Amino acid sequence: MNYLFTSFIFVEKLEKMTFDVDKIRAQFPILKQSMGKYPLVYLDNGATTQKPQIVIDAITAYYTSENSNIHRGVHTLSQNATTAYEEARSLIQNHINASKSYECIFTKGTTDSINLVAHSIGKTIQAGDEIIISALEHHSNIVPWQFLVEEKGAILKVIPMNSKGELDMNVYAELLTDKTKIVAVTQVSNALGTINPIKEMVKKAHKVGALFLVDAAQSLQHFSVDVQDLDCDFMVFSGHKLFAPTGVGMLYGKESVLKELPPYQGGGDMIKTVTFEKTTYNELPHKFEAGTPNIVGGIGLGVAIKWLSELNLTEVQKYEDDLLNYATVEILKLEGIKLYGTAEHKSGVLSFLVDGLHPYDVGTLLNQQGVAVRTGHHCTQPIMDFYQIPGTIRASFSLYNTKADVDAFIKALNRAINMLK
Ligand code: PLP
Repeated sequence: MNYLFTSFIFVEKLEKMTFDVDKIRAQFPILKQSMGKYPLVYLDNGATTQKPQIVIDAITAYYTSENSNIHRGVHTLSQNATTAYEEARSLIQNHINASKSYECIFTKGTTDSINLVAHSIGKTIQAGDEIIISALEHHSNIVPWQFLVEEKGAILKVIPMNSKGELDMNVYAELLTDKTKIVAVTQVSNALGTINPIKEMVKKAHKVGALFLVDAAQSLQHFSVDVQDLDCDFMVFSGHKLFAPTGVGMLYGKESVLKELPPYQGGGDMIKTVTFEKTTYNELPHKFEAGTPNIVGGIGLGVAIKWLSELNLTEVQKYEDDLLNYATVEILKLEGIKLYGTAEHKSGVLSFLVDGLHPYDVGTLLNQQGVAVRTGHHCTQPIMDFYQIPGTIRASFSLYNTKADVDAFIKALNRAINMLK
């Protein structure tokens, strides 16, 4: 029996489970291992999340009994692979509440999705057109727009933030003009954890006729996001930060907007007809999906999203908020800690420095005690410039982390501080 198809059928019938962290955690085999004599405490979820067994099994099942190229074959394997890939698209559509499955374009990830939008919109950009981003953006939501500044003479404007890491909504309103073509802002900051008021921001952008792109790379693993409710024109995310494999992600785009955009890459699947004189393009979503895609990645993303959507995401969010609050209280009991990112609305991230210590040294000593955190600029150099620091230590949490993880982290941090001082 086909593993993927049967599991898809039963999804609809499952009741929403009550959140139980032990049951969740048991589904992640990697979390059971030790780092030397210490149990692994994985707090680098902002960089990538771990994968539940069901996703790992889906990948194995695909390569064991279903591997084939999609969209082109008359044979059974190809048809099954195509069905599984397209069902994954539908699962993602349901999860983000897109109105059509063809508004969901498979990409390599967030970076690829933003480059796609910047490239395609770039064809219509003229000198003097304005693009707005925010002070909180990851480099992948800065550099693709800077290409348009260099190549097209576009003007890049940046919404500033305050010292807590919150965007200034008054300045945002002033930056919007009838020349604004697109606003591209992250929903959750990967470096500071700030949750931005995206719905309100989209409304304002639409008033001046601008499009709005939401970078949801750091939000979808923490809470549910409804693209129709936000009314955003684009939303982008990466599978690997959402319990799915690397190398796959998504661009959601409103049908009316995607239809008007020229394709990004040329090749197989994105064409309707090709002659040496002229090519006509395929319908959505294929127009933006040139070449053989990451088929198993797409299927894995579907399985991961199905797994996530079976959870009660309101409970997940509450659990994670409590965990972050607990970690914040506990870390501030240690001497010399300075937190970066203290916004009122925050998710998933504790960014900090220890007075007089280099983040890399602290990270190394944490690693020696089994605690995985990230140190550095987190691909957000402008944020580090704002605070005039080279980087931070970032502990980032996910739904499988526990108070015991926080306690082990704080104990290891205390030990590291005592060793380094
Ligand atoms: N945007 C944000 C907010 C991120 O946190 C990241 C990765 O950390 C990216 C974009 C880029 O994601 P990827 O490297 O998966 O393309």
